[in-house]
Amino acid sequence: MSNIGDLQSFANSITAVTSPLRGYLNELHQKYSSLNDGTVADYIPELALAKPEWFGVCVVTTDGQIFEAGDCDQLFTIQSISKAFVFGLALEDHGREYVNSKVSVEPTGEAFNSIVLDEATNRPYNPMVNAGAIATADLIKGENGTERLKRLLEMFKRYTGRDHDINVPVFLSEKATGYRNRAMAYLMLNFGMVSDKIDETLDLYFQQCSILVNAKDLAMLSATLANGGINPVTQERAIAEQYVQDVISVMLTCGMYDASGEWTYRVGLPAKSGVGGGITAVAPGKLGIGTFSPLLDAKGNSARGIKVCEDLSRDFGLHLFNVAKPERVLADWISGGNGVDDW
Ligand code: GLN
Repeated sequence: MSNIGDLQSFANSITAVTSPLRGYLNELHQKYSSLNDGTVADYIPELALAKPEWFGVCVVTTDGQIFEAGDCDQLFTIQSISKAFVFGLALEDHGREYVNSKVSVEPTGEAFNSIVLDEATNRPYNPMVNAGAIATADLIKGENGTERLKRLLEMFKRYTGRDHDINVPVFLSEKATGYRNRAMAYLMLNFGMVSDKIDETLDLYFQQCSILVNAKDLAMLSATLANGGINPVTQERAIAEQYVQDVISVMLTCGMYDASGEWTYRVGLPAKSGVGGGITAVAPGKLGIGTFSPLLDAKGNSARGIKVCEDLSRDFGLHLFNVAKPERVLADWISGGNGVDDW
């Protein structure tokens, strides 16, 4: 053990093994393994290859402890979850006012792939639906497509602490069949909301959706946001502190598409889902949750993932607007009863 950081991560790994939260997560995983509601997405042909039984749940605390249950190393494509983080990079590239002049922050109440722009301003409604995400990808700086993709991959590495690859067959599958996304991009070009680098920007959008992650990465992504933009394990800053609030507020209002209202009511945490089956949820100042199960409900959100987040939120009082005493005190469940109730 060479330094304090190593000692800290060693101590964290011991806690992660002995902590009651580990048993809790295993039980939660067990409880919902038999839930077979929903279907695997097949509108992108490659996504249909996902196995319905894959299921992983991971929690990462803002002090860098990692708790896993189930298939937390299974890779899948990040899909729409990328949108929240690319929005953060666009804010860093251009600032809030300019980004907001190109993409609004209003929930649509409509499906993620709806072809709808704000009639008064021609802006897409928010960066979490496809139209808004394509407009956001357009804003990512870089000399060419390769450079822009490199910047995205470097950003994801800052959040998760590891290198990421693109699933090329998924990328090519989306590029070949994404007529609807292409139509949206041209509609926005017609209104001057995106630059004319349509093919390059769509490639970038399809590539960002095809980035390979696992449930642990999703928990690291949200734990980094929960920790003010600093990865709690590597201590590297992933996003300027001033933009964390922008990203997580849009996640809260728009992150679960046309189920965002119900999600906020039931779970009350900023979150983002993707049709690959992932959900990442942020409990600010406390922890990040990453879930993976490719069985999706009618709105494109992971059915088991929603259940897991509902239980975690209720049992530990994680709902942002919770004022009642939670059933379980998070710090106690992490430390095995010696924790201080400072959350
Ligand atoms: N790449 C997907 C698409 O554009 C992302 C959708 C999603 O995850 N909801 O259709």
